[in-house]
Formats: sequence, C-alpha cells, structure tokens
Amino acid sequence: MIKTPPSLVVFCFEIILSIERARCQALAILVKYQHIFTTKSICRTLVGMKKFQVITLFPEMFTGVFENSMMWKAQRDEIVQLSTINLRDFGIGPRQQVDDTPYGGGDGMLLKPEPLFAAVEQAKKNDPTAKVLLMTPRGQRWKQAIAKDWSEAEHGYIFICGRYEGYDERIVSLVDEQVSVGDYVLTGGELPAMTIIDSIVRLIPGVLGGEASAEIESFSDGETLEFPQYTKPSTFNGMDVPAVLLNGNHALIAKWRADNSFKADV
Ligand code: SAH
Repeated sequence: MIKTPPSLVVFCFEIILSIERARCQALAILVKYQHIFTTKSICRTLVGMKKFQVITLFPEMFTGVFENSMMWKAQRDEIVQLSTINLRDFGIGPRQQVDDTPYGGGDGMLLKPEPLFAAVEQAKKNDPTAKVLLMTPRGQRWKQAIAKDWSEAEHGYIFICGRYEGYDERIVSLVDEQVSVGDYVLTGGELPAMTIIDSIVRLIPGVLGGEASAEIESFSDGETLEFPQYTKPSTFNGMDVPAVLLNGNHALIAKWRADNSFKADV
C-alpha cells in the first residue's frame, strides 16, 4: 500500500481549513451587513438552504402555513426547505400503530418510541447536522432572542411534535433542545413547531422585504415593544392619526416613537 507523506496530509488539511475560515468570515460579514445585500442569490450561495423537517401525525396541518406568504416566498427563493415527515409511515404492524397506553396507568395514549426513533433517523439521514427539537411544555420558553440566534445558525432543524398525552420519554435521548411556546397546554406540537419555524424563517437574511424592519420591531432588543403604527386615511371614524406623524419632521417622529415604545414584562 502507498503511504501518503504526512506533510502532504497536513498541506491538504491546511488548505481545507483556510477555505472553511474564509467561508465563515464571508458568512459573518453577510449576516452583519444583510441589509446591504439586496441580491438574494448572494445570501443563498453563502448561507445555503436551511432545512426545517417536522415529524408529525398531521402533516396536512402545515400546508396552509408552509404554502403562503413569507414561508412560501422563502422556499421559492430557495432560502429554506420546509418539509414534513409523517410519523404514521413508521407505525408498527398492519394498523401502523404509533401510540400506546402509559406504563403505571393513567389516561390517554403516548407516542411509542420505535416510530419516533425511526422518523428521527430518517430526518437525520436527510440532514445529518440538523438539531433535533422536541415540542413540550417542559422545554425552555421560546423567545425572540433564540429565534434570532437560530436564524443565524448554519444547520437545519428537526421538530418532533408530540400528540395525545405526549410521548415515550426515551425519545429525549435523541433530542438537542426541548422547547415550549408558553405556559399552557396545546393538543399537539404542530402549532408550536409552526410558531417557531415562522419566527426563525422571517429573520433569515433575504426573507423579509424591508430588511431593517426586523431590527426595530418588538423584542429585537429583548424587551422593548414597538410604538403604535398608523396608515392612511389620516382620519377614520372620527379618530385622527397623531399630528406629529404627519408633519415630516423626522427628529420629532423619532422622539414620539421612542416615547411611545415601552418595556415588555419579560
Ligand atoms: N400531558 C402533557 C401534555 C401533552 S399535550 C403535559 O401535561 O405536559 C400533547 C403534545 O403537545 C405535547 O407532547 C407537546 O408535544 C405539545 N405541546 C403542548 N403544549 C405545548 C407547549 N406549550 N409548548 C410546546 N409543545 C406543546
């Protein structure tokens, strides 16, 4: 067998490393100055398409959300790839069973581990570096700051949507983050997954029309809520738009807006 000289291996390794370094630097510049880059193809070439895969028993619930407005546009522009994996396809036996009763007794059914593990394995095959997220009221509370961080990450995401009374806890061994959308209980993880995907995707460079709009909106600094906004007509049903917004004095408008933004109770 021919042995590769160690110096050649080191040389190749250094070249790969410097290419990767240059790519990371270009990416950092792109993210920092995203408002200047108007050509979406630049974003796409450097950032690549982020994949969002959702493991769910109700894939049809996602049609309306994925096929309209910004989510649809982000896919059309090849910024993101949004897809569902039907948990039923990994069900067991002729009835494709996906749930069973809890050990120790109790009401309701739990998602069985075998279909969940198989579905995650399939999703990982599609996107090996993706982070696996479990939708659960026990998870960390979803916030704008996390959405911003995750919109800047290069890897994709796999969402696991619980149903019924939840899931077999052993799925947690495959999960990177457990996420909750708030202190209330929904019937499934689908609405949380949609909420999280929407809040991340709209922050990805190239998705929003006015790139600056995400920087000044509510929670962008973690606590400030946006000032009230008005559009035409200036008088409607006897209610007037505040005069300061009509006079074109940008300093006064900025002051009015600052005075009328307030701190959220976070
Ligand atoms: N028995 C569970 C609730 C199950 S609700 C309990 O008491 O905690 C069914 C599924 O909906 C959950 O497994 C989870 O995937 C999802 N879900 C419900 N509320 C949620 C929330 N606030 N945040 C994230 N996911 C939620």
